[in-house]
Amino acid sequence: MTGYELAEVAGKDPRIFQSGRHKKAFYQKMWQRLLEEDHWQGELWDRRKDGKIQAKWINITLIRHSDGRIYCYVAQFSDITEKKRKDELIMAQANYDLLTNLPNRNLFKNRLEQEIKKSQRSGLLLSLFFLDLDHFKDVNDTLGHDKGDELLKEVALRILSCVRGTDTVARLGGDEFAVILPDINKLRIETIALHIIQELSKSFNLDQNQADCYISTSIGIVRFPEDGTDIESLMKHADQAMYKAKLEGRGRFCYFTRSMQQEANEKMALTHDLRQALVRNELQVYYQPILEITSGHIIKAEALLRWEHPQRGMINPDIFIALAEESGLILEIGEWVFKQSIAFIDQWRKQFGYIIQVSVNKSPLQFKQINKLLWPERLTQLGLPGNSINVEITEGLLLKDAPIVKDRLLEFRNKGIEVSIDDFGTGFSSLSYLKEFDIDYIKIDRSFISNLTHNETDRTLVEAIIAMAHKLDIRIIAEGVETKEQQELLIHFGCDYVQGFLYSPALPAEEFSKLIIQQQSQAPVGHKGISKNSSSQESVGLKRS
Ligand code: C2E
Ligand code: MG
Ligand code: MG
Repeated sequence: MTGYELAEVAGKDPRIFQSGRHKKAFYQKMWQRLLEEDHWQGELWDRRKDGKIQAKWINITLIRHSDGRIYCYVAQFSDITEKKRKDELIMAQANYDLLTNLPNRNLFKNRLEQEIKKSQRSGLLLSLFFLDLDHFKDVNDTLGHDKGDELLKEVALRILSCVRGTDTVARLGGDEFAVILPDINKLRIETIALHIIQELSKSFNLDQNQADCYISTSIGIVRFPEDGTDIESLMKHADQAMYKAKLEGRGRFCYFTRSMQQEANEKMALTHDLRQALVRNELQVYYQPILEITSGHIIKAEALLRWEHPQRGMINPDIFIALAEESGLILEIGEWVFKQSIAFIDQWRKQFGYIIQVSVNKSPLQFKQINKLLWPERLTQLGLPGNSINVEITEGLLLKDAPIVKDRLLEFRNKGIEVSIDDFGTGFSSLSYLKEFDIDYIKIDRSFISNLTHNETDRTLVEAIIAMAHKLDIRIIAEGVETKEQQELLIHFGCDYVQGFLYSPALPAEEFSKLIIQQQSQAPVGHKGISKNSSSQESVGLKRS
């Protein structure tokens, strides 16, 4: 086991085995114990004759004469080198990220805990960065995961190049990194953050044959002790600050502030209330008329969700829909909106003798749901045709998970359900793509309509969108029409439908019904149109909200 022959070692001092890996104090302690207790056992790193270091589990017993004098020492040992190697590997795997060799989340937490203790003793400032790469998913999606991995390795090296040896750079998972900066001053925090942002904004050359690739990073910064006194709160707050940096436009750093915590608490409270809102009947579906531009008749409506919070009053849909999407509540809420809508379509059909098609906004999350066939089935149950419903989706959805979405949209088409692209012009806006997905309507975003009368470019764009959509057999709904001037231009461009405050805001179902009754009494269907001198506001008899 040691590589020596008996003759080479007989009579020699066991020191010939020493590897130099233990300090003098280690042997002193060992001898002290051995002489006190006549026994010692433990791990020892020795050297073999061929020079290799060997780990031994060793048991030394002291044998004495009957009068107490030392007779001899007997040492028994086994070679545990292999076991130690495995242990080290397991340790490494448990503590290091295999791709970048950086400490992983586990070791990062240990280090942070240690640094917190050190900082508590020394009173020196400690800072923690949370980094998230911006749009890393795009790199993975376009160049493949291998290139994505290469980029992450390069990112690790670049971050390391910006910090000191005493700092810890860790990979927390995916494209998330963290940096622990002990003994730091406020000025240097910013210098280092800027340096990292700058280094990561330089080009990455991942493939000789391809153009260089660029990314950016968003950094959230917290300081100990002012932003949190334990690991959990520091990490949570660094995450909130990072999120804020993303919101503010990415490629930047952001310090944690108390107001962020308040915002986060507020969000949590509101999400909690939203959970109850359905049960407590606080949600309501309002219907905003969509008019045929030539006849001026309300022939469709958009279902828009309203939430009246018992204490806070009306909550803006942009706020609570986002919360519903983040929390997954949108699935349940979306189903409810659909059920409400078809119930009224059915009621209106009975009341007015024709079907008012209702547009329902469908969040991308709802496309991932499994019970996909339920909407057409529900329509069938009520004896309603598929085109009683118009599903509004956003352009971005067509890019994400395209095959699943395409399947779903084709299913809709087969059942006669119509599909609109909402807020058209704010996303990627490819008309040829729309044809491929068999889209029936484009809803031109409000921002273009509000610029119609004073922005030449927007006017040209709207005109062109309408002309091209018609060539592709797609109909146009103009959103957010507020003035007669806008209406005139839209008529001129050949727009098909209009929706906006000029005609009516979204209304509770009963008030919407009244509008239809009014319309029926004022003008038999097919007789009244929006002409240059007719006031459509009169024609539907509405007050603006
Ligand atoms: P959206 O689908 O683009 O809906 C149109 C928004 O424009 C509505 O805002 C509507 O009230 C507003 N609007 C209509 N005409 C005018 C106008 O002339 N001027 C102005 N300034 N605004 C006008 P709302 O109701 O606040 O809804 C905001 C967004 O929330 C909706 O935008 C939609 O994306 C989302 N949303 C509403 N209800 C639902 C729902 O049931 N499910 C889902 N997933 N999203 C919904
Ligand atoms: Mg909509
Ligand atoms: Mg819209």
